[in-house]
Order: sequence, then C-alpha cells, then structure tokens
Amino acid sequence: MNDRFSDRVLGWFDVHGRKDLPWQQDISAYRVWVSEIMLQQTQVTTVIPFFERFVARLPTVQALAAADEDTVLHYWTGLGYYARARNLHRSAREIVTNHGGQLPMTLDGLLALPGIGRSTAGAIIAIAGDQRGVILDGNVKRVLARHFAVEGWLGERTVADALWQLADQTTPHQRVADYTQAIMDLGATVCMRQPQCGDCPVQQTCLACRTQTTAQYPGRKPRKEKPVKTTRMLIIENPEGEVLLLQRPPTGLWGGLWSFPECDDQNAFMADHGLTMVEEIALQPFRHSFTHYHLDITPMQVRVDTPNASTVAEASARWVLPQSPPPIGFTRPVTRIFEALYSNSLL
Ligand code: SF4
Repeated sequence: MNDRFSDRVLGWFDVHGRKDLPWQQDISAYRVWVSEIMLQQTQVTTVIPFFERFVARLPTVQALAAADEDTVLHYWTGLGYYARARNLHRSAREIVTNHGGQLPMTLDGLLALPGIGRSTAGAIIAIAGDQRGVILDGNVKRVLARHFAVEGWLGERTVADALWQLADQTTPHQRVADYTQAIMDLGATVCMRQPQCGDCPVQQTCLACRTQTTAQYPGRKPRKEKPVKTTRMLIIENPEGEVLLLQRPPTGLWGGLWSFPECDDQNAFMADHGLTMVEEIALQPFRHSFTHYHLDITPMQVRVDTPNASTVAEASARWVLPQSPPPIGFTRPVTRIFEALYSNSLL
C-alpha cells in the first residue's frame, strides 16, 4: 500500500509535477535551504522573485554570513515573517563558524540551527542530500490527513504524531528527492483547499474522497470557549419615568459612554444616592458578547419615589427619558433595554 501510494505520487509527478522552479535548478543545500525557509507560510509564486533576487545577491552561505543584517532584511522586504530572515542569517554565521561553511546534512545537525524545523530539515536532506528525509509541511499534512482520514486539529500533539508516522510510512527509499517535491506539489496544486480529486493519483485509496468528507479534513482548530463574566445593572426609574445613567470612565470598557449603574448591593447604592425604592422588578437576564468574553447581564428595574431629578447631582450622572433619549453615547445594553422598555417587549 505504501509503495503503491508513493509510486502513484511519483508517476503523477513525472507527468504533472513542477520541475522548472528556480530552486530546482543548480540544486545545492544552500539554495534548497533558502527556498524552504521562504516557502514557509508563503506561496510558490510569491517566493520565486524573492528567491531569485536573494540568491543572486547572496549566492552562498559565506556571502550570507558576511552580509550585515540590514542587507539580509532588505532582500527579504515584502516576504514577511522577518524572523525567518534573521534566523537564516544567524544560521549562516553558525555554519561558517562551526561547520566549515557546509550545511550539516544530518537531521540533528540541521535541527540545531536557528529556524530549521523537522520538516525543513527533512526537505533539505531529501532534495539536496538525496538521502531519505521525511517532510510534513502544510501541503503534505493536508494530503495525508485526507487520504488517511486523520481526525483532529493539526496543532494537537497526537494528530501531529500520527501524521509524522504516516509521512514516514509513505516516504519511499528510492527517488526521495523527487517524492519530496511530488508530495508537496500534490498538496499545492491538486489537494488544495478545494481538492481536485478527479486529477489526483491517490484518489482510489483516499478515505476522505471515498466518503465525500474532504471538507472535514484537516480538522479545524477547536474554538476556545470565551470566559463568562456577570454583572447586575440597575434601571432606576423616577416618578417622571426617567432612568438614571452614569457616564463611564474615559478609558477602558465602553469608555465615555453612558450606562446603567452596576452594583452587587443595590440597597447600598440607593442609600448612597439618597434614593428610596418602592418597587423592584427582575428583568430577564441577557448576554452581551465581547471579543474575548461574554458578559451575562442581570437587569433589575427599580422604581424610586424620589421626585426630584436632581437627587443624583454628580456630573457623570443624568436622568434620561427612554422614549426620547438625548444625543449622547449609550452602551449597547442601554439601547437594548431602552428598546425593550419603550416597546414593552420582553428582553
Ligand atoms: Fe486530496 Fe482528493 Fe487526492 Fe484525497 S483524492 S488526496 S482529497 S485531492
């Protein structure tokens, strides 16, 4: 099965694979390394002009090591993820200092260099060293997750381990350099987000395709539940039907907007503000969601018998008629409750 998988991928590559990419010409460990770093998070078509300019100006490990960081970053400008360029530069200096200017062509040797992970090391070993190296970049993960119906999010350790095992099992012992290119190409050009299964050499054995579940693989990152905070808002109504609002501090949540008083101890609030409660109605709680958390709001409608609207005389407090609110900024819970009070609908 594994031989057949790699045979079919290689057979497809012989006919359809990309063989004229710039880093596939004049193959050297340096050129493969630079291309693999550039291809992390970045598409082939974007990388090509950057790669050509980079290796034209910095054609060897020694040239890269001798360049100053500004020069390296200059040739990287526009590619993004600049830590990649800085790590490439640091690695070049280590290679010159500790490895006689030659990339160490072993998994451990490459992994010890800044910015080189297991998949990049595998690609360099396979493509430039023509030794058996195993890769598992984003494209390969997608192909394997679908073909073998590997459930779960790729960022989870157990899923990653399962995929590495499959990557190892499917990597052949011959034509490793071609296979490495081939499986990456298959992911990039056929098993894309919208897979072209009709053009795929492993369609017959692909579990996701056979069960028409390609959209389920790879599994999505589980959504983290937002934390929930709670608050109690007092909708204090005076005999004129006006409602008390307080202006929030200028910075922070709802900065400068007008909102209901929030407090756990409404009796203390009443006493502090010279208000006397005559009726209290618990309204239906509701949720207001922010980017990072939910706020569960329990609104309490409190009628007071204080006829004088100036009872609460702070500058940051005012009585407002919900049916004809003034042109000031309200928090969303205020507008929501005003709509409910005005229309008499349930919250
Ligand atoms: Fe991807 Fe379709 Fe090929 Fe399966 S058959 S590996 S889903 S392109």
